[in-house]
Amino acid sequence: MSYATQSLTNRTALEELSVKTLPGVGEQVATRLARIGIATVFDLLLHLPIRYQDRTRAHCIADLRVGQEVVVEGTIMSVAFSHGKRRSLKVTLCDDSGGLLILRFFHFSSAQIHQFTRGNQLRCYGEARQGPYDLEMIHPECDFYPQFDPITTATTLTPVYPSTAGITQLIWRHLTKQALAVLISADDLLPEFIPPEQLTKLSLPTLVEAFCLLHYPPATIDIDALIKRHHPAFQRIVLEELLAKQLALQQLRTCRNHFSATALIGNGHLRKQLRAGLGFTLTAAQERVINELTCDLVQTQPMMRLLQGDVGSGKTIVAVLAALQAIEAGYQAALMAPTELLAEQHLSHLRRWLNPLGLQPISLSSRHKGAERRHILTRIRNENTAIIVGTHALFQEAVQFAALGLVIIDEQHRFGVQQRLLLRAKGEAHGRIPHQLIMTATPIPRSLAMVAYADLELSVIDELPTGRQPITTVAVPDQRRAEVIERVRAACAQGRQAYWVCTLIEESDVLQCQAAEVTAANLIGQLPELRIGFIHGRMKAIEREPVMSAFIAGELDLLVATTVIEVGVDVANASLIIIENPERLGLAQLHQLRGRVGRGHAASFCLLLYRPPLTAAAAERLNILRQECSGFQIADADLRLRGAGEVLGTRQAGMTIWRLVDPLRDAPLVPAARLLADWIIERHQELINPLMRRWLNQEEVHHFLTVA
Ligand code: ADP
Ligand code: MG
Repeated sequence: MSYATQSLTNRTALEELSVKTLPGVGEQVATRLARIGIATVFDLLLHLPIRYQDRTRAHCIADLRVGQEVVVEGTIMSVAFSHGKRRSLKVTLCDDSGGLLILRFFHFSSAQIHQFTRGNQLRCYGEARQGPYDLEMIHPECDFYPQFDPITTATTLTPVYPSTAGITQLIWRHLTKQALAVLISADDLLPEFIPPEQLTKLSLPTLVEAFCLLHYPPATIDIDALIKRHHPAFQRIVLEELLAKQLALQQLRTCRNHFSATALIGNGHLRKQLRAGLGFTLTAAQERVINELTCDLVQTQPMMRLLQGDVGSGKTIVAVLAALQAIEAGYQAALMAPTELLAEQHLSHLRRWLNPLGLQPISLSSRHKGAERRHILTRIRNENTAIIVGTHALFQEAVQFAALGLVIIDEQHRFGVQQRLLLRAKGEAHGRIPHQLIMTATPIPRSLAMVAYADLELSVIDELPTGRQPITTVAVPDQRRAEVIERVRAACAQGRQAYWVCTLIEESDVLQCQAAEVTAANLIGQLPELRIGFIHGRMKAIEREPVMSAFIAGELDLLVATTVIEVGVDVANASLIIIENPERLGLAQLHQLRGRVGRGHAASFCLLLYRPPLTAAAAERLNILRQECSGFQIADADLRLRGAGEVLGTRQAGMTIWRLVDPLRDAPLVPAARLLADWIIERHQELINPLMRRWLNQEEVHHFLTVA
């Protein structure tokens, strides 16, 4: 297996070679490239054409259609000036096919005029458009016999690249040609990591072949497959990226296997008591997931499970049952929420459920200060069996757990791998780490979950508690605001409660809150008979709490809020939600907001109060929301509309920033990537780090290389 191992010693691999080493690339071009994330020659190679021009052969003028971009060759029939509004030069070209084509120029020098002489032969490249009489090309690129420019006598298709200000297509072509020349000049610059027999088996080209082909394909290629990115050359590259990511995640798994966890074997008495007092029966899906968790927790191998369940599917109770298993076994469980508001709500649920069992949940957040905080920290350090609720404050160094057996992270999409590991480190004692359960209502399509969270086991609650009514969603233009206000009045008159969500219309937090304040004041004026509360993101938890509690207790009819109520707030009597400016929000967030209603037995409504005109994309989003109520369907649609990066919230999560992979499109390649990963781990460990270094970003590489 010398194909790759021989070159691992070479330090200046292509992925470390600066673009500045290429001839003709100065500071200015390098700076412009850096702006779009291209620093190395490898980055440049990954910058793939969006389409191709066929300049390899001349097209018959007679067959020319509007919109075609082609080369034509012919004889100049006539040359004329027009002196209309804009001075222009009109050249008529014909070829043996008998067709006529007008070439039109608005800028031209006298030297150019001389070249356009009747009877001269001309080759030009441009896009055919419909003129007043004949097809025309505006400012085509021209070449005159007898010397043709090699660009127009190309033997391969000509790439057209996505661009940035200050870099023309000619510069791009120059750049990628130089990059390919470097690549071909020495075969150890970009070592091939996938062995030839594997490539043959998969009918894929080598990496070098793939890059050459994607940038300068032969004219005979299946262009459609290239552009839609189904071509084997493209798949070859994507496969390697998937492979690298797969290896990274397997490293994470392996490292997990180095640790053991405490088997949490409880006798079930607390769980039994809790179930008896619940007042509802768990759904079959909840029972299934509880069973999965129970089985995981009695193992000495740390659990690492992702629990997906749509908003309102009842994840909390499942988590609490798992926590009780830890407590029965004599250990602590920590439940971590992404916001203070959610942590508070969890706390109140926990109190309601656990106080009857004689348990006092401990809560820690950043608002606990001084003596109170010290007291809480002491309890966490000393109480062997306890359930602890908090925000990211639980990560802090000062927090020491007596015996952390289980960590539950709610709404995972706000936490990244980094934090996951951090909290795990918290419980790490004598080589033992706590079990981990991560919960999310952002339903990640399975295809995506497979590649993004390969280090986690997956559980899904795919069923809502019985008796829930589907939420009717309607889009209403802002002009009909008065009607919407009447709807609120009517709903509250019937004893129901409502939310009015003011979403980001101002850039800054401060302005947004001011805008929401104005809305709240107006509503108070317009609905004098209602009890109206107002909460926003800049309020301290201690100010927000009484308002929330009043709403939960039914002492407020209408809650006006900024998007702070987004995740998890749970008031069964609320059956109407108004979302202002929904066009500004993503699908996932809208679905989350909407999930605040439809939690009880009453028919619920969501009114999307938008400001026309809507962009096509916004209209599409609102449409999907009106038609779909399943979070999974919505996530799929979201993925189609926006691409994977944003759905996962990668910016926060600090992972899964794909260079070329599109998880939805490339999911069929995942099994092959997995097999390859297994094979490399078994037979070619030495390739793991180079592969990760080639494909992962700096932060990720650092993380995975040091963890390993
Ligand atoms: P989410 O999955 O969005 O976190 P929650 O755990 O907040 O949902 O549950 C939503 C509401 O449904 C809570 O009030 C919870 O007590 C209730 N609930 C959970 N499971 C059931 C069930 N099987 N039947 C009826 N109500 C349930
Ligand atoms: Mg929840």
